[in-house]
Amino acid sequence: MDEEKQFFKCDKMKFETKAIHIGQEPEPITGAIIPPIYQTSTYVLEKVGKDKGFDYTRSSNPTRLALEKNLASLENGKYGVSFSSGMAAISALMNLINPNEHVIVSDDVYGGTYRLFEQVLRRYKLDFTFVDSTNANNVNKAVKDNTKMVWIESPTNPLLKISDVKKIAKITKKYNMLLVVDSTFMTPYFYRPLELGADIILQSTSKYLSGHNNIIGGAIITSIKEVYEKMKFIQKAVGAVSSPFDCWLTLLGVKTLAIRMEKHNYNGIRVAEFLSSSKKIKKVIYPGLKSHPGYNIAKDQMSGFGGMISFELNGGTKAGIKLMNNVRLCSLAESLGATETMITHPATMTHSDIQKEIRLKRGITDGLVRLSVGIEHVDDIINDLKQALI
Ligand code: PLP
Repeated sequence: MDEEKQFFKCDKMKFETKAIHIGQEPEPITGAIIPPIYQTSTYVLEKVGKDKGFDYTRSSNPTRLALEKNLASLENGKYGVSFSSGMAAISALMNLINPNEHVIVSDDVYGGTYRLFEQVLRRYKLDFTFVDSTNANNVNKAVKDNTKMVWIESPTNPLLKISDVKKIAKITKKYNMLLVVDSTFMTPYFYRPLELGADIILQSTSKYLSGHNNIIGGAIITSIKEVYEKMKFIQKAVGAVSSPFDCWLTLLGVKTLAIRMEKHNYNGIRVAEFLSSSKKIKKVIYPGLKSHPGYNIAKDQMSGFGGMISFELNGGTKAGIKLMNNVRLCSLAESLGATETMITHPATMTHSDIQKEIRLKRGITDGLVRLSVGIEHVDDIINDLKQALI
């Protein structure tokens, strides 16, 4: 093998290069630089028992395989498994837990994760304890004889709480539990928890990874062979697979992940500074502000602060709702992590399925506003917020 080929075979490339090339060698028949969308349900066998590595797209598809390889390399993991949504990926992972086993979960997880655990999986006798995982001692204290997994979201949605994955990994190793980190808000560009001791990464690829508000997808990345094999089995047995077209769009999005994340981060810092300086704003939550309780851990374990900001206005709920209705450039929308700046009201949108008392106890007030800072010119974003704050 010549040197050039060797370079592309081995995993020595930098992040940006991997994002563009891994899993995406030119298509061998025509040389197409962009891998095709293998929009096929089935594959013709050469003879009985002899296929070319693919038999049915629910089991495997070349476009999906390209994405799985690519995402695994970005997290510095060995294996990737792609699903039809982040929730489908989370639900697949919970097949690692048997009835009467226990999972410790960050208390401020995405509302859909909470809904799945509390309203769906409890019916199958899975037990969950929600703890403030920003203090690793709370995780330690919640361990029971039947605890099999710790589920961390960092930063959390929507309060942007940061957990110390290095410390929590010591606890999970001690008790032989699996540590899963949902790092959707940071992406592997800023944050690679497998390198900090986590066992499994969960990504909602609907967000920054695809980055253009055009697909719903999810992925699991791990270096543990048994976990990978179980997830491949669940992918095929349950069938919540990502379509070839969605995988192709995600691959395309990932090619620009690095430059997009730099810009989200740049804009995020500036918008957070603007909000902090405004007399109309009571509280700004952004991991890149020194006032954020997780600032030092974020600085140590992540290489950027991202584009997600949550804040409360002095005028409470009424003022927050007025702002969300007044914006013109920012879109009032449920999602996050795309080129467009999106503004969300967690209490009535993303976290509306959490009982009000529990939601308020966790700090998700009726006046909390979540902002996913896009990659438009930052002056335009700030000017829109200024005019909406009047
Ligand atoms: N994890 C986090 C942190 C999220 O914010 C979301 C969705 O908003 C999910 C998981 C679920 O992903 P999806 O919407 O792709 O099912």
